[in-house]
This record gives sequence, structure tokens and C-alpha cells, in this order.
Amino acid sequence: MSLLEIKSLSKTYPGPDGRRLHAVSEVSLRLSEGEVLGVVGESGCGKSTLGRALLRLIEPSSGQVLFRGRDLTALSRSEMRLARREMQIVFQDPFGALNPRHSVGRIVGEPLLVQHRMSRAERRARVAETLSLVGLDPEAADKFPHEFSGGQRQRIAIARAIVLNPKLIVADEAVSALDVSVQSQIINLIADLRRRLGLSLIFISHDLSVIRHVSDRVAVMYLGRIVETGPTEALMQEPLHPYAQALLSAIPRPGVPRPERAPLAGEVPDPSAPPPGCAFHGRCPRAMPVCAETRPDLRTQGDTGREVACHLYP
Ligand code: SF4
Repeated sequence: MSLLEIKSLSKTYPGPDGRRLHAVSEVSLRLSEGEVLGVVGESGCGKSTLGRALLRLIEPSSGQVLFRGRDLTALSRSEMRLARREMQIVFQDPFGALNPRHSVGRIVGEPLLVQHRMSRAERRARVAETLSLVGLDPEAADKFPHEFSGGQRQRIAIARAIVLNPKLIVADEAVSALDVSVQSQIINLIADLRRRLGLSLIFISHDLSVIRHVSDRVAVMYLGRIVETGPTEALMQEPLHPYAQALLSAIPRPGVPRPERAPLAGEVPDPSAPPPGCAFHGRCPRAMPVCAETRPDLRTQGDTGREVACHLYP
């Protein structure tokens, strides 16, 4: 059984002129125990909304999220609060996510207050142990967020996320606000924690090169829908969907000359008025007449473990 199974999840919001804004449309994904699934797409493609909706930090409009076979969308508020012991989120902005008036010990230990009956001494010990796990001195517990660098603050946010020993972490652009050198330290930390704690992750990023380093499988999102999924290296070596190809061409790669790269032109369409047919057809260099009329379904490609939604692959 998958750890997580997302079934046809959608999230819409009221948009301009009474239209609905389709942030996430009929997304279906699976995540196995111990697996890292990277979700990649441009800003505004719905990937962060997907991350929040699957944890019910925002309510999905329709669809199901099965965690170990249990439908999270059917849980009451109090049942969901208990279920969240096993699933946590790390946000992009570590400073915004940490209360500047609270000590690090209080920030990291807060989930223990809500979820566990622990003595103060036990809580302190658990916080110290968790701070060590993320590479911080346990004495950091007595300091405040402003006393730390951006990378250290993200370590504090990760400590808070793992203090309850969850099974699933949603990392939403968790390294995007950091310098490149600090990014790699946090990516290494996440990989290390995954191994040591047996974590499964949904790793959301706009940056395919970051996704490549952390993920076992990748899901490419465009205008609220998944357009391609597959094992990371297979997808990186030979992306099938023209949008995935364009995202990959934007990454400088050793040995690939610049003229062979074709960065993506144009804007993501308005999600309150998605175009008919394939939502990418206005930007796609390989668009055909059918693309403007019929939306391609996500289809399995043989036994490669890959799926693509594109009329080029019937
Ligand atoms: Fe391009 Fe058509 Fe494929 Fe869409 S369906 S990605 S427009 S070729």
C-alpha cells in the first residue's frame, strides 16, 4: 500500500467576474514509504496549493487524500489534528514561519505541547535531541530566531517539523530563499534525515536542478494539472512533455551547448480562464490543431513507470 495516495484532488477559488479560479485540477499521485516525490513547475502552477490541500491546511474542493489508506478529507477537525502528528510542512520563508518573540526551544517544542502529554524536562530533552539531529547546538533552544542565519533558521523550521517523528514531510520551496551554498547544506540535511528517520517527502520547487538532487520521482505541474511523472533520472535524461523539455532546457548543463537549449517563452495562462484543449498549447513549439481542442489525458508510457499528458504520445 502507498503511504499517500492523492485521488483526483482539486482546489478552486472564487475568481473575477464570478468565475472559478482553478488552482489545482484533478491531481492524482502516489507516494511510497521512504520515497521522495519532487513536484516542479513555474510560479503559479498550483504546486504549493497542492501541498497545502493534501494536508488540509486549505480545504480541497473535491477529491481524496488517502494516508495509509485512511481518507484525510473525511476526517473531522479534531481527527485531522491528531493525524497531523504524522505529516508536517516546511515553508519557504524560515523567518516568516518562526515566531520572532518565541525562543527556539518554544518554537521547536510547541508541537509536543499540542500533541503529547510530556513533562517539561522530557520536552526539553526531546527538543535538544531534535536540534542535534538538524545540526544545531542544543543550546540554541535558549536563543531567538533573529540570532540565526537563514540556513540555521531553516534548520530550526525542519526541527519543528520532525520533532513529532512524522512519516511525511511536505517541503514547500524549502531551499528557494537560501544562497546556493546554503541550499546544498539543507538538501544534504534533508537527504540525511530521510535516511535516518525513514521519512517520505513531497518536495515542491520551481527549480528542476534542486528537484533532481533530492527526488526519486518527479511530477511536473502546469496550470494546476500534472503533465508528466516519472523516475527522476529517466525524466531528466529524456523529458517527454514539451513543457518538461522547456523547464530542463532552462538549466545550464555541462556538455550541452547553449543553442540546444530553448528557454520557455510567454506567460502561464489565467487560471480563472484556462484555455481549451491542452493548457500549454499557446506556448508549445510542437502544438498541433488537436491541441487547441482536446485536453490530453495523463497516460502511462509502456512499462517505463512514466506518464505524460500530451497528444504527441497517444
Ligand atoms: Fe504541445 Fe500539444 Fe503536447 Fe500540449 S498536447 S504539450 S500543445 S504537443
